[in-house]
Amino acid sequence: MASSPSLPPSAPSAASDTGPWPKAELHLHIEGTLEPELAFALAERNGVTLPYATEDELRRAYSFADLQSFLNLYYALMAVLRTEDDFADLADAYLARAKEQGVRHAEIFFDPQAHTARGVPVGTVVDGLARALDRAQETYGISTRLIMCFLRDESAESALATFEAARPHLHRIAAVGLDSAEVGHPPAKFKEVFALAREAGLKCVAHAGEEGPAAYVWEALDVLGVDRIDHGVRCMEDERLVARLAAEQVPLTVCPLSNVRLRVIDDLADHPLPAMLDAGLLVTVNSDDPAYFGGYADDNFTAVRDALGFDAETLRTLARNSFRASFLDEATRERYLAEVDAHATGA
Ligand SMILES: [Zn+2]
Repeated sequence: MASSPSLPPSAPSAASDTGPWPKAELHLHIEGTLEPELAFALAERNGVTLPYATEDELRRAYSFADLQSFLNLYYALMAVLRTEDDFADLADAYLARAKEQGVRHAEIFFDPQAHTARGVPVGTVVDGLARALDRAQETYGISTRLIMCFLRDESAESALATFEAARPHLHRIAAVGLDSAEVGHPPAKFKEVFALAREAGLKCVAHAGEEGPAAYVWEALDVLGVDRIDHGVRCMEDERLVARLAAEQVPLTVCPLSNVRLRVIDDLADHPLPAMLDAGLLVTVNSDDPAYFGGYADDNFTAVRDALGFDAETLRTLARNSFRASFLDEATRERYLAEVDAHATGA
């Protein structure tokens, strides 16, 4: 799509006069950025009939009540994603919004099995996304990485088959991850495919300790050898785990608005983010599935600022953490950190 849909009205951003904080987004599912406008446009292009008469009706469906109704909608809408062009347009629409939100670097998840299950080859997904990502630096001033996630509620064999199908495309992929319904699907189930990914020189991340227990975070670290934990908020239930995460500075990609929408946390004002920062954890703030969870990267910054009373120094720490936790090379990381510090001083 040439133009991205307009954002709904929101609170003033967590910005100074010089705009939103420069930040990296490290926990972002590209399929979770599909806004109703683009869903309808792609449905029309591909001759797919959506079970919603209008964009407004679909927008109302985004006010889902629980995890299952979210997942039902999420997977139903994926039917509109068929061609390389569709994936390129999806990523381009996200990048346009991310730029407005101060995102300078994005490490983007995709779920190949959600597409291969519908007959869309992994190469179509990767080539389409990569086409948009290749233009992102020039068009939006955003550097990017791709992270290929395995659906943990699918089998270990399916993850292995997915990894083998993706082998010709691994030069486009920086890391592998693990997502979808956590409880009952411990990280150890995917030991073999993560070992293959590490052998292939890829970084590793995994969703753990969101709805699942702190024990899953231990497993992700010790069995999968992950470089980063996605979510991880339930680590706070285990003092020894907190001490280890702090000592090793294992990054945690926390998603505050997502936590509230999926009822991991009842109220943003009760979010453990301040306690996590006080414990010395390398915490970052991210948007997860922003089309569905009520906000993009800076919307999350704004929400935690307002609900938790974060001052500029805390927001600066969160912005710095986002780059520290990224898979950027050192020189680029330092350049972005200098940009955060310049923003803090209003330079
Ligand atoms: Zn996620």
